[in-house]
Order: sequence, then structure tokens, then C-alpha cells
Amino acid sequence: MELEKNIRNKIKETLKKIHLSKNKKLLVALSGGKDSATTLYFLNKFGYSVEGLHIDLGMGDYSKNCKSAVIELCSNLGVPLHVYDIKKEMGSSMCYIRTTIQSKQVKGEIKNCAICGVIKKWILNKKARELGFEFIATGHNLDDELQTFLINVFKGSPNLSFNSGAITKNIQDKKFVNRVKPLFYVTEDDIRKFTKAKKLPVVYSSCPCLIDSYRKSVREWINKEISKKEKEIAFKNFEKIFSLKKSVASKINYCEICEEPCRDKICKKCSLFTLK
Ligand code: AMP
Ligand code: ZN
Repeated sequence: MELEKNIRNKIKETLKKIHLSKNKKLLVALSGGKDSATTLYFLNKFGYSVEGLHIDLGMGDYSKNCKSAVIELCSNLGVPLHVYDIKKEMGSSMCYIRTTIQSKQVKGEIKNCAICGVIKKWILNKKARELGFEFIATGHNLDDELQTFLINVFKGSPNLSFNSGAITKNIQDKKFVNRVKPLFYVTEDDIRKFTKAKKLPVVYSSCPCLIDSYRKSVREWINKEISKKEKEIAFKNFEKIFSLKKSVASKINYCEICEEPCRDKICKKCSLFTLK
């Protein structure tokens, strides 16, 4: 399949660029969606030592379907899977955690996706380290990255993009597990076509909590106004501009509450959990 070959070549180029050797143990963060399924499919095919981690967010049928898709995918590919049940480990579902946090905030100040993102990153890093993995691979694709670049520019914080790339940069700490994005140069459209053609077990509907998200509006605007070719050009140029700035190593602290690595005294997850 021509599309499979194109995607494979783009991923291979990315892995070469970030020097990701095959003797590294990779934990693939599996959401149940097409992007992370494609990430696992190719890393496994290339012969990397991979296992999956799925966070069951406990959000009704949507979460049930995501978990079933991930179980089926890993079983088809013969890949070991770890499931983190947020209800068991944190005491409540993501919806409940989020509502509690938002009720302590001025209305609407912290959006659903921001809260969920912070908590998922915290879990991923902790679990990957405890399980002895050297890298976490996520399904972020070219569209996600282009949206992030634009959002940072629109919101007046372009410097937030200086450290972006197919691998986390400038963080070296024994408690921090580096993250890689093998689909960094692959468009969302190609990924969707690929998983459909391959009939991979994947949930295509978006998260029911994806409402009122700035990213969603930027994404819809890009998809309506910008062609695939233009997207790829814009992305390459953003990358060029941001790589001109020399990035500086970030100082890592350990959170005073949970002892996980973070930039401030208290990590983002604990800051949310201790809001008054
Ligand atoms: P998102 O932030 O939902 O766009 O997801 C970005 C990436 O995070 C996905 O491609 C996955 O690699 C990972 N991810 C998202 N949700 C989950 C989940 N429930 N469990 C494990 N990994 C996830
Ligand atoms: Zn903490």
C-alpha cells in the first residue's frame, strides 16, 4: 500500500533524526484512537521493544469502547498491555475529578482538555518510570503540532514552542521519562486513511468532553482553510523558525507533594488537586 509506505518512511526518518535505537524499551501511550494505534503498529513492525499503557478515564461508554479497542489492538499485535484504571487508582473518574477542580475555579477558567492533559501526563511519566521504560511514545501528529504552534502564537506565548520537537528536549532527570512523537511529520488525514484501510480496532469519535476547546476551533479553521500541502509547508517553516533559537536546559525540581519531577515547587497535577 502506497500510503503505508509513505507513513513508514516518514516515521523511519523521524526515528533516525532523534536517534532512537531499537534496544530502548518504549511504552506506547494508547488512547484507543487512530494516532496512538498507528504509532504502536509501526514501532512494533520495526522491531522495537514496545508495550502499551492505556489510562481508563472512566467516562462511560466512550472509555469502555477505547479500552476494548486497545485490548484488541494489543492482542492482535502480540504486544503486552498495562491498564491504569483512574477510578481505582485516584478514587474517581476523570469527569468527577475535572468537575471538582472546575467548581473551585472562576467559571470556565481551566478547560476540560487542559485538566485531563495534565493528569494524563503525570500518570504516564510515573507509570513509565515505575515499569522501567526509557521512553514514552505518544500519537501526536503533524496536525496536532501545527495547532500547538499556532495556538502558542495566537495566545502570545510563542516561546512555548521553542522546546517542541519529535523528542522532549533539554530535560535530563532520573525521574523524568523522555517522550517521543514518531508521527511528528505524518498528517492526521493520512493516519485516518491508513487505520481505516488496515481495519485497525480504533475509536473514531472524539472525546465527549471535547467542548468549548480553543484547539478544536483552531483545528476546524485550519482544516477548512488550509490544504494538506500548505499545512506541511507551514509546519516545516514553524520548525525552521523555532529551531533558530538556542534552547536552554530546564531546571527540574521534585514536587513538594507527590515528589514527581516538575518545573515549580508543586507540580501542575498537585496544583490542580489542591485548589481551594
Ligand atoms: P490527546 O492529548 O488526547 O490529544 O492525546 C495525545 C496522546 O496522548 C495520544 O496520541 C496518546 O498517545 C496519549 N493518550 C491520550 N489519551 C490517553 C489515554 N487515555 N491513555 C493512554 N494514553 C493516552
Ligand atoms: Zn505533585
